[in-house]
Amino acid sequence: MEAKNSISLARLCSTLAAVLDVPAPEKAEPPLDWAVQLLKEQAGGPIQRALIYNPDAVAQWLFHKNRLMFQPVLEQTQLVLPLRAVMPSVTPVCFGTMYTGAQPEVHGIQAYEKPVIAIDSLFDVLARAGKKVALVAVEGSSMAMIYNNRPIDYFYLPYDKEVEEKALELIDKDQYDVIVAYTQEYDDVMHRTGVDSLLSMQALSNQIGIFQRLCRKAAESWKNKTSLIAFCPDHGVHQQEDVHGNHGLDIPEDLNIQHFLGVRRAVK
Ligand SMILES: [Zn+2]
Repeated sequence: MEAKNSISLARLCSTLAAVLDVPAPEKAEPPLDWAVQLLKEQAGGPIQRALIYNPDAVAQWLFHKNRLMFQPVLEQTQLVLPLRAVMPSVTPVCFGTMYTGAQPEVHGIQAYEKPVIAIDSLFDVLARAGKKVALVAVEGSSMAMIYNNRPIDYFYLPYDKEVEEKALELIDKDQYDVIVAYTQEYDDVMHRTGVDSLLSMQALSNQIGIFQRLCRKAAESWKNKTSLIAFCPDHGVHQQEDVHGNHGLDIPEDLNIQHFLGVRRAVK
C-alpha cells in the first residue's frame, strides 16, 4: 500500500515565490529551501519569466503507471517534487492552498465551493512586486473563480483547447512575466469513465501535450530570458467501485501528486 507523501502542497507557494525573488504571501508555509537553491543554481541569475501549468487531477500514481506518457514533462524540467494535497482533496480547496501557501482552514475554502479567497496569494505578491501576471483558465472552473479581484489579467475560455491557444498567444506576445494556465479534461473524463479508461488516458495525454506545446513556445519566444517552467496538478484520483473516478478522500491515491519544476536559462 502506497504511503502518503510527507511534504504538504502548502510548501509550494513560498518555494515559487523565493525562486521568483518575490516575498512569500502572508500566510504561506515555509519554502523548500533545497528546491529553491537547486532551481536558482540552475538559473544562474534572475528568473525573468514563469509558466505555471495546472492540469486538474493528475495523480502521482498516474505517473508511475504511465511513465512513457510523462516523458515530455521530464524533458522540460529538472526537479520532481512529491507533494501531499490538502483535505478535502477537491479542486478549489487544493488550488486555494497551492497559491496562498496556507492550509484550508487558513485560506477559508474547506469544501467544494468557489468563493474569492480573501488572504494574500502568489498573484498578489507578484503584482505588488510589479510583475505582469496572466491567469488563463476554463471559465467556471475553480481557478477562474477563487483568485478574482487581483490586479492581474484574466482570460477565461470555454475549454482546454481555447486555454491552450490563449496561453500560446500570450507567451508569443511576451507581455507577461508570469503566465498561469489551468486545464481540466482528464478530471472531467475520469469522473465519467473511470481513472484509466481509454478515454481518460487520451485526456491525460492531451494535458501533457498542452504542457509540451506551451513549453516549446516558451523556449522559442522567451529564448533570451531565463524562465521557470512548472507542471503543478491540484490533487489525485481513485477508482470507485462502479465505472467512475473520484477524489476528495484522505487516501494516498487522492492526496499524492507530483510537481515537476524546471528552469531554462536564457540563450545569450
Ligand atoms: Zn474532479
